[in-house]
Amino acid sequence: SYRSRSAFKLLEINDQWDSFLTKPDVKAVVDLGAAPGGWSQVPYDPLNIDDLEPSSALTGRGTIVAVDLLKMQPIHGVHAIQADFLAAETERRIHNLLSVKGNLECKADIILSDIAANASGNDVHDIESSLEICEAVFCFARQYLRSAERIGRRRGGVLLMKHFEHPLLQKFRVEKLLPNFHDVRYIKPDSSRSASREGYFLCQGWKALEE
Ligand code: SAM
Repeated sequence: SYRSRSAFKLLEINDQWDSFLTKPDVKAVVDLGAAPGGWSQVPYDPLNIDDLEPSSALTGRGTIVAVDLLKMQPIHGVHAIQADFLAAETERRIHNLLSVKGNLECKADIILSDIAANASGNDVHDIESSLEICEAVFCFARQYLRSAERIGRRRGGVLLMKHFEHPLLQKFRVEKLLPNFHDVRYIKPDSSRSASREGYFLCQGWKALEE
């Protein structure tokens, strides 16, 4: 059983949009804001969907790296890092884990972010930090997403990220996401409470324009 309701959101998004999680060539997944671990438990290979420890299916031939401020109960085959994603040294720790299993380029096929900053009680501050997180996740993706050429398929890496309403969110989408991915969708999953102001961007096909 999954550790969080969020896992069902992820499966719902996956079912609706091209089963992006369950492509056979997925080798490395980074799960940001991962605790308690529902998204890290989701199976990344349709052949192993009945496996009791689904993530182990991927770890046989790939890597899952999970990052959260909170400590996570271990999940077999998932490398958990307890750290602030926004702290400078966290990237190096993710990088080190991505480089195992012969992944010399240190690229990820899928980057997921379900990060929700803890509400500070100050609305202005909370709204600002929600965009700051999206920007940081995008910067990370720019460096670590695998491009299409390298994996010999039409589509490059996939970024799924949670966001909250923000006055500059559309600018972020237009300037950062649209030019860099073949396909960008705004998603409000049914299983996310309709009153909440959260949504997701599902960005498929990283173009790696700057490389
Ligand atoms: N996807 C998870 C699951 O399925 O179990 C649920 C994630 S929960 C909605 C959001 C998480 O983001 C929280 O566990 C929180 O600790 C984490 N978080 C918030 N700010 C963070 C940061 N700066 N760095 C790392 N994790 C952060």
